[in-house]
Amino acid sequence: MKKCRVVAILMRTSGASQIVIIGSGIAGLFCAIRLANAGHLVKVITKQRPIDSSTNWAQGGIAAILDKTDGIGLASHIEDTLKSGDGECDVSVVNSVIGEAGDRIQDLLDIGVIFERGADGEFHLAKEGGHSNRRILHSKDATGKEIERALSQTAEQHENIELMPNNLAIDLIQAEHGNPNAGIAGVWCLDQNTQEVMTVHADTLILATGGFGQLWYQTTNPKVATGDGLAMAYRAGARVNNLAYIQFHPTALATKSDRPFLITEAMRGEGGVILDDEGLDKWQKQCKKVATIVSPEQYSFTLKHSAMGSMATRDIVARAIDKQLKITGKSHVYLVTSHLDETLLNSHFPTISSRLKRHGLKLGHDPLPISPAAHYAVGGLDVDDIGRPFVRESGKIFPRLYAIGEVACTGMHGANRLASNSLLEAVVYASRTAEHIISNPPTNYQKELPHWRADGLDNLFEHAPVVHDKNELRRTMSQEVGIVRRFSRLNRAARRLELLGQEVDRLWRTSIPTRSIIELRNLILVGQLVTEDAIARKENCGLHFNQDLVKE
Ligand SMILES: Cc1cc2nc3c(=O)[nH]c(=O)nc-3n(C[C@H](O)[C@H](O)[C@H](O)COP(=O)(O)OP(=O)(O)OC[C@H]3O[C@@H](n4cnc5c(N)ncnc54)[C@H](O)[C@@H]3O)c2cc1C
Repeated sequence: MKKCRVVAILMRTSGASQIVIIGSGIAGLFCAIRLANAGHLVKVITKQRPIDSSTNWAQGGIAAILDKTDGIGLASHIEDTLKSGDGECDVSVVNSVIGEAGDRIQDLLDIGVIFERGADGEFHLAKEGGHSNRRILHSKDATGKEIERALSQTAEQHENIELMPNNLAIDLIQAEHGNPNAGIAGVWCLDQNTQEVMTVHADTLILATGGFGQLWYQTTNPKVATGDGLAMAYRAGARVNNLAYIQFHPTALATKSDRPFLITEAMRGEGGVILDDEGLDKWQKQCKKVATIVSPEQYSFTLKHSAMGSMATRDIVARAIDKQLKITGKSHVYLVTSHLDETLLNSHFPTISSRLKRHGLKLGHDPLPISPAAHYAVGGLDVDDIGRPFVRESGKIFPRLYAIGEVACTGMHGANRLASNSLLEAVVYASRTAEHIISNPPTNYQKELPHWRADGLDNLFEHAPVVHDKNELRRTMSQEVGIVRRFSRLNRAARRLELLGQEVDRLWRTSIPTRSIIELRNLILVGQLVTEDAIARKENCGLHFNQDLVKE
């Protein structure tokens, strides 16, 4: 039997306090740059390359009213956010985040992010579902890529930032084992280049690990979105909130040969309309009959669900599509753009246009097959207004720990996130966390940290069980904990997840950690927490829709 090769290394920058950020999306990198500019030394641990993140894939943009004196604009953005949140938003959080947007956008511009401008030099603003006005700054349809480019380039060149790519955080190290109230003192990470486990000291640790879309088969999220930060913090004793609120994006490209590639809501903002086969057929016949292209809007089944039709908020549109697919038995509906200006669409959405070409589809021409896909985790680690999580048992602030970006639940999104509000929330909280640390610099944690348990572990000989268990997990979540839920199916999911949890626990205790086992262990825990929250809910609200709770 092969001996365990796990090596524990204690890392500490002598003298200076050490700030460790896990994750290199918008939240992690923005926070790192802000701290580094103030003279702090920051380590950024990240799973793959620094750019590998949901941030890098964000298309639509970032919602913001730039002029703080624009009372009407601010009030309208606030109103749309609250409406989307279905009565569950924290109103003071919404007011303060939207009020801070202009300053944070200026920060992004200062870092070098380039947003699209019109011929007059003014920002070109887009509109998405649930927004009553054009207020979304964007870089064509690759806004996240542009943000990630500017942030990662700045971070790479900053002398106070050490980027640690290919490092996978495994578990947080409590300052006192079994006592979350004493806080966090570090993190164990798998260096994927050497397969060694490192013990990384942290006087302050910031989780910026993003969401967990990989729990579902159909997801717009990148492979790194496996809920690691949420699971690590939960195991360490942190409180979670609102995990049942999973946003499914209504318009992911549904082709057999490709992952569900997102088609931004801004496409509907420009006039794209969702039709089923019947609506498409009727609309095409009408166009032929009157020998001109009429608007497809009145042929959309989404009108049965909201007067805003295809432009209703995501929860309504995703549910409408889910229902229609169940009625028709088809695998997709269509996003229709052929009534719109083809040249304009190709110029606004070049990334989507080129992706469609791979499948022989043309914007402004072909009906695009679409279906919903898991997209955004509204819930997460329950945090205060500067990103500090709470200890689950005591309700006290979790010492030396912060959570920012999609891993956190701030109260901004309530029961449903308004499109393009998440990049905004991430940047605002990243800034607040950094400012708080700058004004309250961390003290050095002096005690030596425990090393990773290395004895008696073996290399995983057969990987098939991990692959099977992951498939089983994703199948369960997709079938039983999807857009439309029922108690019987949620309970069935809970039973299956418990079994999967026992299986992975057995592997975990005996194997040298690999990325696949670490992620599976985290995904199962997060799946259990999502299901538990969904079962506990006695009312439908926002993104949580349980057919058994519908009042006749
Ligand atoms: C396709 C797509 C389109 C979107 N479009 C928009 C949009 O237009 N507007 C908008 O506001 N929002 C959009 N969103 C949502 C938005 O992109 C995310 O909510 C936001 O980018 C999250 O930022 P983050 O920094 O919290 O996490 P991420 O950007 O996901 O970054 C997480 C980081 O953590 C790292 N990580 C995770 N686990 C570990 C670990 N164990 N160890 C080390 N590193 C780890 C990852 O590798 C990654 O670097 C979109 C999301 C997707 C998927």
